Amino acid sequence: MRKKLTKIVTTISDIRCEVDFLSKLHEAGMNVVRCNTAHMTTDSINAIAENTRKVSDKIAILVDTKGPEIRTCFGEAPIKFEAGKTIKVKGDKKGNSTAELLYVDYEGFVNDLNVGNQILIDDGDISLRVTEKNADHLVCTIENNGSIDTLIGDGKGNDVHRAGRKSVNVPGVVTKLPSLTEKDKSFVLWAIDNKIDFIAHSFVRSKADVKEIQDILDEHNSPIKIIAKIENQEGVNNIDEILECVYGVMVARGDLGIEVPCERIPLIQRQLIRKCVEAKRPVIVATQMLHTMIKNPRPTRAEVTDIANAIYYRTDAIMLSGETTYGKYPVECVQTMTNIANEVEPAKDSRNDIPVPHVNGEISAYLAETAVGASRELPIKAILTDSFTGKTARYIAAFRSPVPVYAFAYEPRVARELALSYGVFAEILGESKSKTIREKIENLISEGNLNKTDVIAYIGGSFGTGSGTTSLEIVTVDNFLKKIDKLND
Ligand code: PGA
Ligand code: MN
Repeated sequence: MRKKLTKIVTTISDIRCEVDFLSKLHEAGMNVVRCNTAHMTTDSINAIAENTRKVSDKIAILVDTKGPEIRTCFGEAPIKFEAGKTIKVKGDKKGNSTAELLYVDYEGFVNDLNVGNQILIDDGDISLRVTEKNADHLVCTIENNGSIDTLIGDGKGNDVHRAGRKSVNVPGVVTKLPSLTEKDKSFVLWAIDNKIDFIAHSFVRSKADVKEIQDILDEHNSPIKIIAKIENQEGVNNIDEILECVYGVMVARGDLGIEVPCERIPLIQRQLIRKCVEAKRPVIVATQMLHTMIKNPRPTRAEVTDIANAIYYRTDAIMLSGETTYGKYPVECVQTMTNIANEVEPAKDSRNDIPVPHVNGEISAYLAETAVGASRELPIKAILTDSFTGKTARYIAAFRSPVPVYAFAYEPRVARELALSYGVFAEILGESKSKTIREKIENLISEGNLNKTDVIAYIGGSFGTGSGTTSLEIVTVDNFLKKIDKLND
């Protein structure tokens, strides 16, 4: 059976995270579990992490922060918005929203906005335009009809309407909101204690936002890797400095589609993927990839094409959100992505490859490029490498190997980090390196992934830990095993 090379990130909620469910998603092709802490407590996230680890020690766990977001404050429902009328807006957490005065939970809101700015409420459903700025409130014109009205239960089986906390976006406005909330900090500490693999930080605007998390990680000597979620124009503008200090990037199209005109999303997606490939860092394309499958058993043609295009444009990973947290067809969604990947990956046209520079003339980058080039010219079935830090495997991924990359990692954490890298399948080695590499290769043979007569490319180092990658061998599996045995004698 063909191995899917594109990685799949699935968002999991505590309401549905049983071991059996996660196993089914894993079998269908899930590589990374994402916990969106915007909707969680540390208790609920515990259950997800525990159950994920019961399924496989190779599934990476990603904790997603809430980040600097603004929401409307509760009020008496419904709050009706009528196009052409005006409404006042104030920043005060304790405020009670009405149809005349809307409160948002950020105190600096009035200060950060100016006349002419747009305010988008509830994922962009309601649009306001600032027409007057006063010391403690803004006056806005309502640009379209709408209402804030959420149906919730009162715990006794009765329906209760509340004007719930809705998202507030202010496109193009540079706010002074702190990047990391208190709740976020507690989740970062939880992630450190629980040896989580990735923290995806929401609304990263600059390297300073990343540094806030990195400082906490450093304080605790934590090796957790940071993924920057790019969800507004500032993040797009500062992508170069952000890429210098993160492990990877998520193209967070949900918020991005509100923060910038949504017709710019395809362009931004391609630009960000290109930047990430050039920097040899993993990139995830996220949100609404199979949105209609939340309700329907089959995707739209547009969704299938969107996923295919993300893969054509060289993304490492694709993501599911509501599709897997509360949708009706979670396993089918993962399977649909796997099926599309299996069709698209072999059909990639190498003329569309993104040229990857060899940063600082690195030997491992050169060998990675050569191995991937060789696998296009020669009948090579797989690339093998041993992974101390995972760097060489990530380099091979950056060149988008058309054949599977088997990375033998010494640390389980390094193996899981590779769960985001295109085409990389990590195996966790035990103490005796050469013996377990032999075992792992034998496993690959018995699982039907390799034959003894297959040719493989092996990138390795023979001068001990720390002296890096030094060689590329192109050899049959059989001869490679014989060589390992000789080293063991
Ligand atoms: P979210 O991030 O699901 O946490 O909002 C992803 C996005 O905005 O696309
Ligand atoms: Mn978002």
